[in-house]
Amino acid sequence: MHNETIYLDNHATTRCDRRVRAAMEPFLNEIFGNAGSSTHVFGWDAADAADLARDQVAHFAGSRPSEIVFTSGATESNNLALKGIAGAAISKGNIITQRTEHKSILESAASLGKDGWDVTILPVDEYGKIDPTDVDRAIRSDTALVSIQSANNEVGTIQPIKDISDICRKKGVLFHSDAAQAAGKMPIDLIRGSNDLMSISGHKINAPKGIGALVVRQAIKPIKMRRLIDGGDQEFGLRAGTQPVFLYVGLGAACEIIRVEAEAEISRIQRQRDKLYGGIVTAFPNAVLNGHPVDRLPGNLNLSFPGIVIDRLMANLGHIAVSSVSACNSQSRQPSHVLLAMGVAPDVAKSTIRFGIDRFTTDEEIDRTIDAFAHAFKRLKAK
Ligand code: PMP
Repeated sequence: MHNETIYLDNHATTRCDRRVRAAMEPFLNEIFGNAGSSTHVFGWDAADAADLARDQVAHFAGSRPSEIVFTSGATESNNLALKGIAGAAISKGNIITQRTEHKSILESAASLGKDGWDVTILPVDEYGKIDPTDVDRAIRSDTALVSIQSANNEVGTIQPIKDISDICRKKGVLFHSDAAQAAGKMPIDLIRGSNDLMSISGHKINAPKGIGALVVRQAIKPIKMRRLIDGGDQEFGLRAGTQPVFLYVGLGAACEIIRVEAEAEISRIQRQRDKLYGGIVTAFPNAVLNGHPVDRLPGNLNLSFPGIVIDRLMANLGHIAVSSVSACNSQSRQPSHVLLAMGVAPDVAKSTIRFGIDRFTTDEEIDRTIDAFAHAFKRLKAK
């Protein structure tokens, strides 16, 4: 059944690439050593593999290998960025972020707020974009960190991170960007050149779940951080625990693939996304595009269908896997905080579907999805 279902929920997660899986497999069997065992070949082999994976992630991120901290995913990377910087600060000050961030940023910021930090949450415009001059105005002498995502996981809006990074650099404030959705989907130079700290997630780039990284660039000025997990001195003292080398290898392989292939992939994905958009709007002309019309992730389409009861539409769609809310908020059934921040009315926000196209989406699947929507709208109208 699953094989017939068209998967278009690639912001929630992506399929593991077979090449990534093949790279990982030996590390679940033959090469099982602890990378921290320095007295025998089992440990050396594991350490060599971890080093190569770290090199591959660094090569993609445009950083030094010693600036890559492997984590369990972007949630942990975001927690480490905010709480790690705050924890190392001499005194409690200000942290700046914005309203459409992922919950792992907003909740980390809220938790720091409870600890006595002053948290500034900047607004976005109707496209979900923040105005860099708002960041400029909000920065204070006690601002320890600005954290603005590279691209949004619901509406795909790409933030002006180069401008924000320039402002932060000029004012000597650290800039963190959650690039979980942007890595491999945006021009690589932007990912590399526009942040001091950057979060990435393996399962958004065709590696497995449970692995990610925080890039902590030491180039501009040394970044002091406090770790979240105490214990051994793994990950340069920033994350204790025996290193899951097979997952490191998976993230390394996935980063190597996007470093080499993303550019070509992006244009194909964008073409499929535009075709899907055209097809659905033809079937339902009142559909409203959420997010920025141009500055958006190539594989993202987020559409509201005013007047349509979304559960009925989904029930009529058959074998198409899309989402009506982000997977992280699917329990609450509340209208999306992202759409509300953009000024979308709550009832329209509830009539919204997010499509995510990725490496494995075929042209035939796009055609079948357009047909399925056209039929579903006809059936709903006939009732
Ligand atoms: N940030 C963004 C923008 C995301 O889309 C996600 C995943 N939905 C996360 C962070 C959390 O990533 P992970 O699942 O790797 O913890």
